[in-house]
Amino acid sequence: FAPWKNPSLPPIVRFEGITKRFDDFVAVNDVTLDIYEKEFFALLGPSGCGKSTLLRMLAGFERPTQGKTIVAGQDISDLPPYQRPVNMMFQSYALFPHMTVEGNIGFGLRQEGMPKNLIAERVDEAMGMLELRQFAKRKPNQLSGGQQQRVALARAIAKKPRIVLLDEPLGALDKKLRQQAQFELMRIQETTGTTFIIVTHDQEEAMTVASRIAVMEKGVLVQVATPGDIYENPKTRYIAGFIGDVNIFEGTVSAIGDGCIEINAKDGYQFKTRSSEPVAVGQQVCLALRPEKIRIAHEQPASAVNAIPGKVEDIGYLGSISHYHVRTAPGERVTALRANAAHTVERPISWEDGVWLDWPVDAGVVLTG
Ligand code: ATP
Repeated sequence: FAPWKNPSLPPIVRFEGITKRFDDFVAVNDVTLDIYEKEFFALLGPSGCGKSTLLRMLAGFERPTQGKTIVAGQDISDLPPYQRPVNMMFQSYALFPHMTVEGNIGFGLRQEGMPKNLIAERVDEAMGMLELRQFAKRKPNQLSGGQQQRVALARAIAKKPRIVLLDEPLGALDKKLRQQAQFELMRIQETTGTTFIIVTHDQEEAMTVASRIAVMEKGVLVQVATPGDIYENPKTRYIAGFIGDVNIFEGTVSAIGDGCIEINAKDGYQFKTRSSEPVAVGQQVCLALRPEKIRIAHEQPASAVNAIPGKVEDIGYLGSISHYHVRTAPGERVTALRANAAHTVERPISWEDGVWLDWPVDAGVVLTG
């Protein structure tokens, strides 16, 4: 499922040069972005980066200062929210406290003037999908946080909009419930075949649910890619650090050849790596290395390429894996990760052990931005 790779397929949502200013402040800066039908798309970024504002412009709650919003080929920039083929689920759920679960789910349909029997059918269908039938007669304050979240989602899908917008929909749930709810969102999105666009600041959440992620920073769209691509090939140092753990070595390109480049790292080491970015000798770059790409062992590796000694300073035991924080001779702190597999033949690594870190030439990503 990769509609963004099919040039003949039109996007369902197209943001065209969208800018939003609040007085002098630019909240969203010239964003151009295509989202495809049936995608589960995530807008990801830290608080204040403009992701909610972008979503609210699609819903029609904010007007762009510049640019166009096109949905299914139609410019909807001037349409009021209720005429747009989108439905929004808010972080606060915004359930009506005096209405029952049924009443809440059917609210939008009654507003539309849909015949009663059809409303009952739609409400029942949505309740069935979200396993809410036994709570039909309850009021929101008689429900747990997770159940309220499901009612809010049921209400968002009952109208069968083409696009469901989710603004931090799971923000109020604790970690375990949140993970369950993520899988539920994915199931509902797949079953209904609706386009879901979620706003989140939680990178794990975006990686779990989304087919593609747009990372925003200070109003600007920095990278749009699949979760795997963003993790393996982050475009900038900011994204590498924002998505997952990463070790960053700063340095200068000292040689190019054999499909590899050599980097003189600031700490005196020399690293050899592949680079998909075109670079020149003398250029300042960063080598980004995920902890799981670094091998940690007591024994010195046979090859001297990308091998550095150090001392274990801290161990973070997480059950299935452990993180090792290693201090290298020039004083850098490097994180490596190792699985705690039952069949491992390697000697356990303890605090203060002298160790070697090494990695293959294709383990890292060279970043110029
Ligand atoms: P969060 O996750 O905290 O909601 P966000 O990335 O969704 O953050 P937005 O809500 O889009 O961020 O806000 C982007 C910036 O625009 C923020 O700095 C915010 O203060 C500002 N902003 C948003 N709405 C308004 C408004 N109505 N008037 C003035 N500034 C606003």
